[in-house]
Amino acid sequence: MSTLFSKIIDREIPANIVYEDDLCLAFRDVNPQAPMHILIIPKKPVAMLVDATVDDQALLGHLLLKAGDIAKQEGYGDAFRLVVNNGAKAGQTVFHLHVHILGGRGFSWPPG
Ligand code: 5GP
Repeated sequence: MSTLFSKIIDREIPANIVYEDDLCLAFRDVNPQAPMHILIIPKKPVAMLVDATVDDQALLGHLLLKAGDIAKQEGYGDAFRLVVNNGAKAGQTVFHLHVHILGGRGFSWPPG
């Protein structure tokens, strides 16, 4: 199923892209919840984290490593938060796997 994130990958919808390689794309969230709010997504259209399989193991690791690199590049390497919402009840609204990279403010625990 094509989502709006597939359209961003295909450049059918504009986005403020901060990083791209063969496996993933990272762009600024249109409704930022922190001074840095970037989404990193696999180019492969995996809908939710639970839909990933062992075949996606390297891809998932790649997303995390690149998320750390991006946070560092943005100047927030010392403190940032990664969030993956899996399922509508957890707050997922776009059904193309994405990791939120948030930084530049304090974060409470437990998360809301
Ligand atoms: P979710 O709620 O699924 O975890 O996160 C989806 C995120 O995508 C939200 O933070 C939302 O602001 C962001 N988003 C939704 N539509 C667009 C869009 O068209 N462009 C960008 N850059 N972000 C979007």
